[in-house]
Amino acid sequence: MDFDESPAEVAFRAESLAFLEAQAKPFVVDALGDERSIFITDHDVESRYVKRCCDWQSVKYDYGWAGITWPKEYGGRGGTGFQDAIFRQEEAKFINASGVFAVGLGMAGPTLMAHGTDAQKDRFLKPMLRGEEVWCQLFSEPNAGSDLGGLATSAVRDGDEWIVNGQKVWNSGAHYSDWGILLTRTNLDASKHRGITYFLVDMRTPGIDVRPLRQITGAAHFNEVFLTDVRIPHENIIGQIDAGWGPMMTTLSNERTLIGGATRGDFTEIADLARRTGSHRSPALRQDLARSYTRSAILKFLGYRVRTATARGVAPGPESSIMKLLVSEHMSGQGDLVLAMQGAGGMLAGADALDGGRWQMEFLGQWSSKIGGGTDEIQRNTIGEKVLALPPEPRVDKNIPFRDIPK
Ligand SMILES: Cc1cc2nc3c(=O)[nH]c(=O)nc-3n(C[C@H](O)[C@H](O)[C@H](O)COP(=O)(O)OP(=O)(O)OC[C@H]3O[C@@H](n4cnc5c(N)ncnc54)[C@H](O)[C@@H]3O)c2cc1C
Repeated sequence: MDFDESPAEVAFRAESLAFLEAQAKPFVVDALGDERSIFITDHDVESRYVKRCCDWQSVKYDYGWAGITWPKEYGGRGGTGFQDAIFRQEEAKFINASGVFAVGLGMAGPTLMAHGTDAQKDRFLKPMLRGEEVWCQLFSEPNAGSDLGGLATSAVRDGDEWIVNGQKVWNSGAHYSDWGILLTRTNLDASKHRGITYFLVDMRTPGIDVRPLRQITGAAHFNEVFLTDVRIPHENIIGQIDAGWGPMMTTLSNERTLIGGATRGDFTEIADLARRTGSHRSPALRQDLARSYTRSAILKFLGYRVRTATARGVAPGPESSIMKLLVSEHMSGQGDLVLAMQGAGGMLAGADALDGGRWQMEFLGQWSSKIGGGTDEIQRNTIGEKVLALPPEPRVDKNIPFRDIPK
């Protein structure tokens, strides 16, 4: 593979930069805490951040830069994965505004395109792309995370509506979302992977109670969501009744690709921190710096591989598990490194710490990447089975009715 950009890609980068220089300036972040929604600890700052993300998405839409890989019929640019990566690299220099739309544009959108009806696509895709509607993911439950087939939130049909009862958990951004993608159990007599139905739910429907969960960073970016007699119109089902597993797999595969392919902080920032703290003179830390650089380079090339496959029409497969796993190892190694480079200063926090405590947040945030989007262990299982063709795990409850599985 030729890693140099083609003349067309060089031109695309210049075009992206020209647009960003002309339009992105008003949105440049004004405080470090604003940059990463996952790390925002103040409710008002977060509300400002969400609004700024929506405003910026709308500007991108107006100028034809929203949804670079999305088909033109849905308001996208119809571009390639490489163009998308180029634009995101340039955009990251101006504003970090993609987190708010990760579930919508990165997961719900592709799932709707693959499994939605024409009416659903017409209703939801353009408002999503214009940043008018923010989405969250209501999949995990207290007893169903890695094993989503164990989910128990029930949906019972009542004429043209379904009545939903149950509890979801770890739902990122649910407290500021307009819509949710929701998995429910609709058939207790089917096996665990069969009786699941996939819904789109308006987060303002009566009976939805969103309660934020505070994390180790001090931020509360995810929530518990309680659903009590929530009524959802039948037309909001994605795919078929009891057959939500297929669209769910589309969502999860896109989620892994999204997490694995996200633009990482530039290594020059890490190198700069090393110089400022004098860590570049420490033989031990130099080894860790080299490891960090190597991992980020491997991630870049794995990204090329995934995008090349996508450009040839191959859906993201087990490569996304490999990337997701490496990203989590990278975040974890880098989180430890940025703290170690500060020596005793690593024990400080907030305004007392170097760069306002930004690196401490990076250290504390490293665990989220090991769990969110599927844990490291689950990615290893997938790689073992799908890439290395190792024998699958025993699954004793796979072919029995859900109601007969011991709980
Ligand atoms: C930052 C973040 C954001 C998230 N956002 C969302 C969201 O928006 N929406 C949503 O629905 N969910 C979200 N989640 C939830 C996430 O998908 C789950 O936490 C994850 O799938 C793990 O499920 P669990 O927490 O129930 O852990 P469990 O599945 O109970 O796992 C516990 C431990 O057992 C291990 N384990 C489980 N099964 C196996 C196995 N078969 N083999 C080996 N080891 C195993 C796991 O690796 C883990 O170490 C988020 C999580 C995080 C951390």
